[in-house]
Amino acid sequence: MRIDRERLRVMIEELGEIGADPEGGISRIAYTPVWEDGILYVEKRMEEAGMQTRRDAIGNLFGIYPGRTDRILLTGSHIDTVPHGGMFDGALGVLAAVEAVHTLRESDIQPEHTILTAVWAEEEGNRVFTGIGSGAFCGQIPEMSELNLEKLHQAGHSMQNVRDSVFDGLDRIDASLELHIEQGAVLEKAGVQIGIVEGIFGLHRYETTVFGTADHAGTTPMDMRDDAMVKAARLICELEELTKKTDPQMVCTTGWLRAEPGMNNIIAEKVTMMVECRGMNEEALRVVRSYIASRYGEGGTHIEDTLILPPVPMSQACREAVRDAASELGFTSMPVFSGAGHDSECLAHAIPDTGMIFVRSRGGKSHCPQEWTDWEDCAAGADVLLHALMKLDIQARGQADKT
Ligand SMILES: [Zn+2]
Repeated sequence: MRIDRERLRVMIEELGEIGADPEGGISRIAYTPVWEDGILYVEKRMEEAGMQTRRDAIGNLFGIYPGRTDRILLTGSHIDTVPHGGMFDGALGVLAAVEAVHTLRESDIQPEHTILTAVWAEEEGNRVFTGIGSGAFCGQIPEMSELNLEKLHQAGHSMQNVRDSVFDGLDRIDASLELHIEQGAVLEKAGVQIGIVEGIFGLHRYETTVFGTADHAGTTPMDMRDDAMVKAARLICELEELTKKTDPQMVCTTGWLRAEPGMNNIIAEKVTMMVECRGMNEEALRVVRSYIASRYGEGGTHIEDTLILPPVPMSQACREAVRDAASELGFTSMPVFSGAGHDSECLAHAIPDTGMIFVRSRGGKSHCPQEWTDWEDCAAGADVLLHALMKLDIQARGQADKT
């Protein structure tokens, strides 16, 4: 059993026209009329595939393909984009799921599990904040700042909508599987088609301040300076080495800094910078934090946590289902990590068996008009999604029988 590659390609291209920007790329921001057009497009395709559809209060769209029991397998992704984003980020996971269900129906296969295909609202976080749709579904009611509440209202929603969207059948979901483009170049570099996602990186973001002493840039000899800018630069370079040495998978970025007083002729007294580390190993992330905190001794640096998200491992059952499906279908596969956040990160907190499949992104590019995944890889990902779901269907049924 294989999905219809041509039908999948046409859907991706047609959805890609909705919100296509004359300046390049696709701008289909959540909760805008053009996003609603995209939702309607997917809803029609779901109906053609044999699904019943429904929306929830926060705007998530669901396609329901009834199984023999009320146990659920969840799949899907998102169709909102960043401004001038690409055609595959999110859309592939949604349309591949629709195509997988269409293939099941054409093959007269009724699974044990009801297959619930979701289009999550606001994954990209351009309107309110990231993951509000999938978060609400699994009961993660966020603490809203004034600003975010206002953004939520501007998007036509309220906290009541968030609360009303908590899914009342979470305990009936046996597994969740999302197909997504890699958004990096690891698979392409390895020449491998399918990525078995081992986990989604945790993220630690620190506002780091390095202190020095302001002085005259002309009259202070080099060996009499306490230059915050030089200390910050040294620290940034040291963090690069420390990161590589501590955990080869971990990444560390200083993407922003500000020097004060910030004048050409004054040695910097203070540098504030944002340091962000991502990885699967929390201990390794903490090594970086304590290095920053202690590098210039007591009072030499100040570190403040601004965002701490724990790493999210993907379930073994899902990883095995993806690995076995890929190998049976004759595709090459390898374990990978996700450095980017996804809806599956929210879902994993409520659904223990959560997994992801990655396919190659050309040049590793995403969130830009150049984002591209070969049609062959899109189809391979959709086939693996279909067959992995069928494996989970049988496996989870076996487990239910035992209990
Ligand atoms: Zn995405």
